[in-house]
Amino acid sequence: MDLGIKGKRALVCASSKGLGKGCAKALAEAGCALVLNARGEEALEATAAELRETYGVPVTAVAADITTEEGRAKVLEAAGQIDILVTNAGGPPPGVWSDWSRDDFIKALDANMLTPIALMQALLPGMMERGWGRVVNITSQAVKAPLAPLGLSNSARTGLTGFVAGTSRQIAGSGVTINNLLPGIHDTDRATSLDKGVAEKQGVTMDDARKQREATIPAGRYGTAEEFGATCAFMCSQHAGFMVGQNVLLDGGGVNTTL
Ligand code: NAP
Repeated sequence: MDLGIKGKRALVCASSKGLGKGCAKALAEAGCALVLNARGEEALEATAAELRETYGVPVTAVAADITTEEGRAKVLEAAGQIDILVTNAGGPPPGVWSDWSRDDFIKALDANMLTPIALMQALLPGMMERGWGRVVNITSQAVKAPLAPLGLSNSARTGLTGFVAGTSRQIAGSGVTINNLLPGIHDTDRATSLDKGVAEKQGVTMDDARKQREATIPAGRYGTAEEFGATCAFMCSQHAGFMVGQNVLLDGGGVNTTL
């Protein structure tokens, strides 16, 4: 399917690895010029080179922490005019509800709620003026059903979801859409580190921890970054212009809900 976004300029945050990279790849395949970001320069430059070589699209790489004001300023300055924004950042650490301090919450809110909001505030006006734009926020299945050890994520991402629900409808008339993409368990470094947490807590092998988590997914496996990226690219496409303020869950059936 031609996604109709060839030549559009896309900023994909936190995209040297994992789900962000999956989204960047799919947008590059659709012919978008890319601005990529991550903190670690080496992996970021390697991903940028891989995408330039494979898809023949222009790729700008900006090494910066997207959760800081300086990092965002650096990325936005290099990005210039952007038609497609995919927000992403690392997720908060797991823990126990009674242990988290105000600082822990502020950190999680900064990374997973206030950073995507700041990026939208910076880039939406230009998209609205030009009459076209797409925003996809990578959030989590935790928005649909809370994950007990990920209370910081449950809290911050639900706050972002509320902002998107209200804002997407205010701006939809200008040709700009905002939607959220909710990953269930996907095969990335983040999933491996959560497997490790289970293995350590229960004294089982990494293999057993993974099998245990796979057993919670009706599809019987972890998702892939490629599948995730393809869905993201569709949500950024010309065909998705009537999709407004939605929360699209990609979880192999893991969240047991009717709606
Ligand atoms: P990942 O494999 O660990 O990749 C994270 C990517 O983000 C890397 O490129 C990393 O590069 C970059 N990054 C992290 N923090 C950053 C920051 N502050 N500024 C700029 N770049 C940053 O993680 P993932 O699995 O793709 O997860 C992406 C998001 O989806 C996370 O928020 C995660 O919590 C959420 N999620 C994932 C799953 C899953 O199963 N994978 C499920 C639900 C939700 P650097 O480290 O070099 O910066």
